[in-house]
Amino acid sequence: MTEAAGAAALEALHEQIRACVACPLSRTRIQAVPGDGPVTARIMAVGEAPGETEDRTGRPFVGSAGQLLTKLLEGVGLERADLYICNVLKCRPPGNRDPQPEEVEACAHFLDAQVELIKPDVILLLGRHALQRILPGAPSISRAHGTRIRDRGRLYVPLYHPAAALYNGSMLGTLQEDMRRVRQYLDEAEAERARVAAATAMSDAEAEAVAAAHEQMTLF
Ligand code: URA
Repeated sequence: MTEAAGAAALEALHEQIRACVACPLSRTRIQAVPGDGPVTARIMAVGEAPGETEDRTGRPFVGSAGQLLTKLLEGVGLERADLYICNVLKCRPPGNRDPQPEEVEACAHFLDAQVELIKPDVILLLGRHALQRILPGAPSISRAHGTRIRDRGRLYVPLYHPAAALYNGSMLGTLQEDMRRVRQYLDEAEAERARVAAATAMSDAEAEAVAAAHEQMTLF
């Protein structure tokens, strides 16, 4: 798919999300919050659900947890604008209560479609709800945070939710340390991609050389 076709498909998906009335949250929301970021993003971050500011603006992670997320990313040289950011639930649960299993179920296909379109190198799972939804058999967030989990060809890093660090200062240090690991995992994924690209270019060149030699031989 070309970048323009990918961007159009992502926008069409966002439109479907905005129009969704599959669960009762569609009756209490101001608006749905589909996701934000380029279809070419190499990093995807998945949070829990929109809060009050997100419900008002239609954009994910723009409240205080979002501002902390932006700072954490910048702390390791990453730009928020380079990420695709979304949530398990696309609509705000009243009073920011936990997502209900039926709501997660009703929204699941949207998140699956987002992952399929973006095909990121790494998916950051922000908090226990994202971890449970995407990797149901994984250890709890307190054990899994900062680790690299490979599952069905994808790379995931569970992290504490930035909102938790707003209320618990000691968690901020842990999040900063985990973010440095994310940076390292990304650099390794990038190096691996460059290695694969170089090996593919080499075998293409070899195949061309063999074909040229074959053509030469058939001329005689
Ligand atoms: N918390 C989330 O999990 N998602 C948001 O978009 C905002 C806060």
